[in-house]
This record gives sequence, C-alpha cells and structure tokens, in this order.
Amino acid sequence: MDKLALFKGKPILKESLKFYNSIGKKEEIAVARVIKGWPLSGFVGVAGEYFLGGKYVKELEKLFKKYFKVKYAVSFNSASTALQGAVAALGIGPGDEVITSPYTMSATASAILFNNALPVFADIEENSFCLNPKSIEKNITNKTKAILVVNLFGNSANYDLISGIAKKYKLKIIEDNAQSPGGTYKGKLTGTIGDIGVFSFNFHKVIQCGEGGMLITNNKKYALRAQLVRNHGEVVIDDLYFDKKIYEPILGNNYRLTEILAAIAIEQFKKLDKLNKQRIDLANYLTKKLYQFDWLVPSKIFENSKHVYYIYPFRFLAKKIGIKRATFVKAIKAEGFSLSVGYQKPLYLIPAYQKKEIYPHSHFPFISKEYPHKVSYRKGICPVVERMYEKELLTTTICQPPTTKKTLDLFMKAIKKIEENVESLKEYERKN
Ligand SMILES: *Cc1c(COP(=O)(O)O)cnc(C)c1O
Repeated sequence: MDKLALFKGKPILKESLKFYNSIGKKEEIAVARVIKGWPLSGFVGVAGEYFLGGKYVKELEKLFKKYFKVKYAVSFNSASTALQGAVAALGIGPGDEVITSPYTMSATASAILFNNALPVFADIEENSFCLNPKSIEKNITNKTKAILVVNLFGNSANYDLISGIAKKYKLKIIEDNAQSPGGTYKGKLTGTIGDIGVFSFNFHKVIQCGEGGMLITNNKKYALRAQLVRNHGEVVIDDLYFDKKIYEPILGNNYRLTEILAAIAIEQFKKLDKLNKQRIDLANYLTKKLYQFDWLVPSKIFENSKHVYYIYPFRFLAKKIGIKRATFVKAIKAEGFSLSVGYQKPLYLIPAYQKKEIYPHSHFPFISKEYPHKVSYRKGICPVVERMYEKELLTTTICQPPTTKKTLDLFMKAIKKIEENVESLKEYERKN
C-alpha cells in the first residue's frame, strides 16, 4: 500500500488512540475495603446463609434487581457460566434443541452444548445483526425448547416478532445481553424482555471487573436453579425447600463470583448510564456523518430503542464504491485508524460443529439416540451471516472514550480521502 502515491504523505491520524479504561479511584478504594474486611469469598457449598454468597455479591445482585426492576439476580464468575446456568435453569438437556445466532461469541452456543442440548443456528437480519424472526421460525422442530437471542454489538433483537414466535410455539427466551447492558428495545431494557437475561463483566465489556457475569429473571424456579448451578447445588438439594418440595435434578459447579470482583463490579455498575452515554454520543455523531457515503451503512436501531455501542458496526458495500473491503481497510490503516473485518467466524463453521465432535471418542450429543434426525451445520445455512463475515461487516472501537469528536472528524476525513481517490485504489487492486 505504501507504494501508492495517495498514501505517501503523513497519515491523517498522527498519534495512536488510547484504550478504553473505566477503572478508577472508586474501584481501587472498593478493593482495599474488601481486602481489609475479609472474607474474599462469601460462598459455602452447604445449605444455609452462605449458600448464596457474601456481602458484596449480594449487594451487586441487589443493584441489578433495582436497576432492571426484576425479582431475581444471580451473579456468576462469567457470562459464559451464567449462560450455561440459564440453559440449565430452564431444564434443557439431552434431546432438546435451542435456536441461536451463529454470529456471536462462541460461549453463547457452548452454553447449550454444556447442557448436552444442541444449538440450531438461525440467520440474522442484515441491518441489526441480530436473529431474523423468519429464520427462527423456519428452524423450529418438535425438539425446540428455547431461543437464545444475542443482543449483538449493543443493539437489540426484533423482540416484538421473536416474543410472538416464542408464545406461539411455547418456547422460552434467553437473552445473551453481554454486549448490551443498559440498551433498550421499544422502551424496555434488554435482558428483561425474555425469561432470563445474561450480562458480562469481562475485561473487554462496557463495565467490567476482569471476569464476571450476571443472570436476571422474574421466575423464582429459574433463579433457584441458577443458584444451584452456581454452587455445587446437587449436594444441598436434600436440605432445600422447593415450592412443592419436589426433587430438582441438577448438577452444579463452582461458578461463584469473588467478593473483590463483586466490589469492583458494584462501582462499575453505578457508572453504567454515564459510560453508555459517552459511547452513544460519539456513535450518534459518527452515524450522522456516515450517511453522506452511500456505500457505508450504519446499524439499524428500532424506534424508541437504545443501542449502547459495545462496538460500532457498519456495512461496506463493495459494489457501490468499486473496491474490496480489504482494500478499504488497508487504506484506512494507512491513515492511522484501525478497523476490524467480519467479526466472528459463523460458529457452525468452527471444527467442533463441522466435525460434530467435542469428545475424542464420541460424537455425543450431535449424533446420538437423543438426536435421530440430523441438525445441519453445513456452509450456507445462514447466508446473511456469511455475507457479513466474508464481505460486508466492519467494526470499530473508535466510539469509546477517551476518543473525542475531533478524532471522529479525522476519521471522516480519512474516509473522504479514500472516496476521492477511489480510482487509484482500483489501480492498486489491479496491480496486486
Ligand atoms: C463476552 C461475551 C460472552 C461471554 O462473556 P464472558 O463474561 O467473557 O464469559 C457471551 N456472549 C457474548 C455475546 C459476549 O460478547
């Protein structure tokens, strides 16, 4: 690229962008307070007061209940384990299918496999990057038990239609809301629309404590089952009082959040609205400017809804500009900015699904007596996801503080420069 006359000059962005970091003094003080106060974990795996965790874990859960106006909040040590707990909470197991998006972090679908149920992948909408209701409906079989919806990039899925389908076919909805804390769909907070919502406090997320997660629900039984999954629940089942005193078959593990991490997450959660607002302001500014290019398409947002821009996604239409996505990205990089292409590989294309193999000696659960008919993970099952991955999707973290609107102006300048010099980029493509 540097051989191109166009990019011989200095890049438009001269200094490298600083990383997003929302950890500050308040978190530092909180950590010191916990260390002095002891214990560092409040959990004990026996029935009683400490089965549900310590002081800070309970405080964090209380804040979630209040903010999201839900009856129950159950913290986990990650969103991955919380998702696993969510699937288990619904009683889903071998022989069951859960419809989900292949355009997500692998943990979304693994949560289904960890319960020995099968993920069935439906396609997405090209403008929201979330599940397409029509594709969900097409994939329903008599084994389908739930839809695991992913609110991708900070957006929300099309819940009016998805909830309608769930009702019609008597399916449960789990929301993977790891990327959209504080986002809304038609006025409702995402994570509260389905039967269970899951959040992440992983280092890369909007609010974080290193690693951590949360599950919220209004259903007492789901909350209890999630609590059992989190803390070796099988051992306490004899001592617990259920609604009808019936035995709940379940297997638990150690998915507990520590007190220090909970204390950091509390401080982070208090900042959520402020942190979201900073991103939304930057993203709205960028979106407005991007409209001048008919070959770049920002994400669709449903009316009266809030996208919280965990990352900023937009589509690249190669036919309209006449150059490849890869060339555009090279040219943007030459101007000092970075862009990611394609997001994750569609999950069904990774070896575990292609080979239907997660154990060295067995194809369970993919090929088993529980699944006499075959679930397909063939290339081509989700054409929109594949098109986004291979050709159209671009993502940027530029809409995160400490970026300012000035940097976004420079970003626009770089895109304009590329558009004005598209002929020399075509020339570059011919030669390379
Ligand atoms: C990050 C993420 C997860 C997993 O979160 P962890 O807390 O890292 O386990 C799950 N789903 C989505 C969509 C994510 O972005």
